[in-house]
Amino acid sequence: MIVFDQVQKSYQVGGRAIPALHPTDLTIEAGEVFGIVGHSGAGKSTLVRLINLLERPTGGRILIDGETINDYGSAELRAFRRKVGMIFQHFNLLSSKTVAENIAFPMKLAGIYSKSEITDRVQELLARVSLSDHANKYPSQLSGGQKQRVGIARALACRPTILLCDEATSALDPQTTQSVLKLLADINRELGLTIVLITHEMDVVRRVCDRVAVMDAGRVVEMGPVSEVFLHP
Ligand code: ADP
Ligand code: ADP
Repeated sequence: MIVFDQVQKSYQVGGRAIPALHPTDLTIEAGEVFGIVGHSGAGKSTLVRLINLLERPTGGRILIDGETINDYGSAELRAFRRKVGMIFQHFNLLSSKTVAENIAFPMKLAGIYSKSEITDRVQELLARVSLSDHANKYPSQLSGGQKQRVGIARALACRPTILLCDEATSALDPQTTQSVLKLLADINRELGLTIVLITHEMDVVRRVCDRVAVMDAGRVVEMGPVSEVFLHP
């Protein structure tokens, strides 16, 4: 469970503190798919980047499974980051590494897995995202949907309990979007992962989200089950 207790975030711009997230209370239940929608600049990325401490809050408390994460030091942060996977609009794969090496990379960085553990896990993840035949290809040899499936496998490598998705399907065509959404829904159901996803696509919200928050100008202005927040299809 992810809890925001009066969490706020300001950025320092030219010596001034510009608020990007006003004090916000929010609870995301374990195992749910939680969508965040809103115009560009509304604060969606800021909110999501606070969950994995890519940004530190400038006020309030963030609790994950009951533990306050705000003032984690570097050792705690390393362990914590393994619990939170992230996927991106433009995939952020390493172009000089193969598919398998990209997936293995976070496990190697973590420094706690043996070589055989990594190899077994990479094979398992390749199968899960249907890329077993592409293990030794480079990202430039893959379609957009395949690249995002590599991104998903890499995000899952260290067995996170939370998956953050920042416009993960925005660069994909509608058909590929459907297959990536189905994969995310399967992961949510089979692995019980909590998924927090930012999107500007209403179809994505309707297809996979349990609840949704609507953001505007640094505030959550509406929040609830998708069918209640968006009454009219
Ligand atoms: P969204 O994801 O909804 O587009 P963001 O969270 O990226 O919104 O941005 C919210 C506000 O914070 C915007 O006004 C943006 O310009 C500002 N902002 C985001 N990141 C930074 C940063 N690193 N430094 C300064 N301002 C930022
Ligand atoms: P190393 O020289 O340590 O093996 P690499 O960067 O070449 O480093 O590979 C990183 C890891 O990627 C390997 O340890 C292995 O676990 C994984 N890997 C590479 N290719 C494959 C593959 N075809 N199938 C499964 N795992 C692979």
